[in-house]
Amino acid sequence: MLEQIEFLASLQIVDQEIREKEGTKRMHLAQIELREKEIEAKRAELGILKVDWEEQDKLGKEKEQALQEESRKTMEKRMRMNRIKNIKELQALQREIDQIKQGNSQLEEELLAVMEVLETEGAVQQQREAELKELEEGWNGRREEFEAEIAEIERTVAESSRVRTEIAAQLSGDLMGQYELIFARRGGKAVVAVSEGICEGCHMNIPPQLWNEIIRNDKLILCPNCHRILYYKLPVPEDNQVKSS
Ligand SMILES: [Zn+2]
Repeated sequence: MLEQIEFLASLQIVDQEIREKEGTKRMHLAQIELREKEIEAKRAELGILKVDWEEQDKLGKEKEQALQEESRKTMEKRMRMNRIKNIKELQALQREIDQIKQGNSQLEEELLAVMEVLETEGAVQQQREAELKELEEGWNGRREEFEAEIAEIERTVAESSRVRTEIAAQLSGDLMGQYELIFARRGGKAVVAVSEGICEGCHMNIPPQLWNEIIRNDKLILCPNCHRILYYKLPVPEDNQVKSS
């Protein structure tokens, strides 16, 4: 039994390494996704702002053109006034000019409003552009770094998995099943040593009767508190402690 548990303890070291590496890989992948989504969202926002700005700009130009057209009409009418002698015709023409003027002041107000919108939107757009630039510069080359790290992790994990298979071949299927269940449920720690009557998994005192059974190392014993597999590790002699640590 002791031998089996020692294999389990070795397996656990490999599994803990795999678990840690997989965790780092997940974090890297999440980071890549997060940062790229952030940049994508900023680009999309900027795209919408640009479309809107262009629409406003087009509107502004149309209003400017209309104003010029109306001004041209006013000038024409003024020149016609110089040639007209009939008072009624003159009055009618003056009314037309007044109407155009009224329309123009309306147009001017509208144009001013458009210019204000353009100015505000332009400032927001500039700000977003600066933010996008900062995001892109901050991310520049980082994806490649993360991907290189992920590739390295995958290589290490593949090697660890190979070692794992070798160790697992030494273990009975039942024991493996039990170990894997505990490993998954107990945060990557399924096999723990008992030293001085204390479970290293949950730090609870082991009842003396159970302690005696653990020392015999002849059957599988679970901690009554945290349900991890317990085993007794022989104390390392003083002289070997430095070398073995
Ligand atoms: Zn325990």
